[in-house]
Amino acid sequence: QKRQPVNLAESVSEAMKLVRASTPAGIDICMNIDASNLWVEANATQLHQLILNLCTNAVQAMGDKGHLEIRLEQDERAQAVLKVSDNGPGIPADILEHIFEPFFTTKEAGQGTGMGLAMVHGIVRNHHGALNVQSTPGNGTTFEVRFPCCNFDN
Ligand code: ADP
Ligand code: MG
Repeated sequence: QKRQPVNLAESVSEAMKLVRASTPAGIDICMNIDASNLWVEANATQLHQLILNLCTNAVQAMGDKGHLEIRLEQDERAQAVLKVSDNGPGIPADILEHIFEPFFTTKEAGQGTGMGLAMVHGIVRNHHGALNVQSTPGNGTTFEVRFPCCNFDN
C-alpha cells in the first residue's frame, strides 16, 4: 500500500471523469472545488475507489434523473472535506445503521455486492480520516469524508 502526497483536487477531478463517463445523461453533475491546494498522504488508487464508490451509489439511488454534487473544501481545522450529495430517495433510519457493514445491500441480486461502503469505510480509516452520512428520506443523501492534510498554499 504505497502512500504519496496526493493533491485532492486533482484526484477528485480525475475520478469524476470516470463517473461522468458512466452516468446517465439525465443526472447533472456539479463539481465544486473550493480548495485546490489540499494534499493528503494517500494511496491514490484507494482515493479514486472511494470517490467512485460514493458516486456510483448516488447515481444508482437516483436512477435516470437527478443531481449529483461533489464538493471539496477546507474546514476551520484545516482538514480537507469531501462531500458527495445526491437528491435521491435518501436512506431510512433502520437501513442507515447497517450501510457500512460488509455485504449489506438493498439492491437486487446481481446489482450490488454490499461491499462499496465497507470499502469506503476501510479506506477512510486507513487514511486516519472521518466518515459521516446525513440522509433525509425523500430529500437525498450526503456523505462527508474528512482527511487530515497539509496545505501548501503560500
Ligand atoms: P451496494 O451498492 O452494492 O448495495 P454499498 O456498500 O455501496 O453496497 O451500499 C450499501 C447500501 O447503502 C445500498 O444498497 C443502499 O441501500 C445504501 N446506499 C448507499 N448510498 C446510498 C445513497 N446515496 N442513497 C441511497 N441509499 C444509499
Ligand atoms: Mg455501492
